[in-house]
Amino acid sequence: MAAQRSLAGSLRWMAEGTDTFFEALAGLPDDRLDVPTALTGWTGRHLLAHVAANADALGNLAHWARTGEERPMYASFAQRDADIQAGALRSAAELRSWAASSAELLDRRLSELDERRWSHPVRTAQGRTVPAAEIPWMRAREIMVHAVDLGAGVGFGDLPADFLAALIDDITAKRSGAGDGPALALTATGHGGTWTVSGTGDPADVTGTLAELAAYLSGRAAGPGDRPAPALPRWL
Ligand code: ZN
Repeated sequence: MAAQRSLAGSLRWMAEGTDTFFEALAGLPDDRLDVPTALTGWTGRHLLAHVAANADALGNLAHWARTGEERPMYASFAQRDADIQAGALRSAAELRSWAASSAELLDRRLSELDERRWSHPVRTAQGRTVPAAEIPWMRAREIMVHAVDLGAGVGFGDLPADFLAALIDDITAKRSGAGDGPALALTATGHGGTWTVSGTGDPADVTGTLAELAAYLSGRAAGPGDRPAPALPRWL
């Protein structure tokens, strides 16, 4: 099931997700940032460094769209990871301030784009060429899913339903495109949405709420329901 994702909708999700993330972060004491998150190998400091560097990286794409001067998100995957490791060594105060200022800067850069520049092609870190209008969606999914990863009490069930459906559209398309995982047939209870993921084997039926399906598909939770669903690797 593929819903239409509008630029206005993505900008709204990005703003809502940013509010959700920073509200959750404000409630998290500094010493909690030293604790491992559910993401393997990452403490809260790594997560904050990643979220801040992601805003900077997407700001590079906004600059590219506005000026036409090619500016990739990251120099390389290795550089991206090295910057997260180095960033995680900063103090909690520095990390909080970097996360906030980079989010504000990204907002400003996006507000400079007009209709023509929103359609300017840019390249994602994965090497896909997309219109700049994809930038707010790329940020929305990062900031929303990582608000959950903070472990500060936000769950997938706290995220907007229309965002969750768009997230499931996105992940099922990505996992189908990769085609290297288990085949899945997904049904959202109380929503009516169905999705398929092409992959290996007979499709496993997975039924749950939008929040449960999003948590499962993003590799954050085991599959919902009584029957065990195939395990999935982390996404994002
Ligand atoms: Zn991420």
